[in-house]
Amino acid sequence: MIWPSASRPDLAVSIGTGSAARQPEEDAGAANGMFENGFVGRAIRAFLYSPAVDGNQGWQDALDSIPEELKNDIFRLDRSVPGNLPELDDVDRIDELRDFRYEIPDSLARALLATSFFFELDEEPILCSGVYHCQGSILCCRYGLEEIMSLVQTELPGARFMTLKGSNLGEADEHNGCRDCGYYRKRVTFSVSSTQEEIQLGIDSSSSFYKIGGFPTSVLSILQHQQADAVFGRADHCTDRWPPSRDCYCAIGSKRQNEAVPFCPNSKRRRVEREPDS
Ligand SMILES: [Zn+2]
Repeated sequence: MIWPSASRPDLAVSIGTGSAARQPEEDAGAANGMFENGFVGRAIRAFLYSPAVDGNQGWQDALDSIPEELKNDIFRLDRSVPGNLPELDDVDRIDELRDFRYEIPDSLARALLATSFFFELDEEPILCSGVYHCQGSILCCRYGLEEIMSLVQTELPGARFMTLKGSNLGEADEHNGCRDCGYYRKRVTFSVSSTQEEIQLGIDSSSSFYKIGGFPTSVLSILQHQQADAVFGRADHCTDRWPPSRDCYCAIGSKRQNEAVPFCPNSKRRRVEREPDS
């Protein structure tokens, strides 16, 4: 939603509505009767366990076709239903299905938190001594910053932003945004040898690494997504987004509302940060 042209989602979560454990005796053809053991019985069982009918089997087949490097970003929530699966029109078992609680694995909870953050460049990278110095900001795509940061402290203790190559970009809970309105912005700098180099930026916690939204990517790709090279304006007619102005939420609204805010560190600092119009 942030970058519609991005073709790779940060996470994919598949949610099943319940599946039956396969009965070993059925597979072995141990059921009694010519009907169950014959061609018709096998055909029925093959149909019931086919991807067209069995969502879990469809999921397994889909997972097999996904490249290995993407599998860490993909999660499946499902449950095993004891006995036979209810018929599609079996309303008597709706309550039983509805009351099921999915178990959210820690890895999914942490990945969801980490992908709440994303990175944007604040200015064009500067080439110096053979490397590109990149100045940008890590931002949060969700509201409710206080709650998010509280979850970060619980789920990702000691969280700090890092590149996969080991550059420490600082503690996640220390940032340059506005605590009055809950606007998260952490200014960071890192270097790359090429704008096309694939980079991975994420949250490091207790030696576990969770990538933030939009990564892996390259600096060139980030510039393109931010439409930094749109000489004649952007497709969405927002001509003032590069370089980004970085207003906090206090600054959104009327001037009168802004004046009503007693103190906003970000709006005070903004005068220094904002680059002159070119
Ligand atoms: Zn603010």
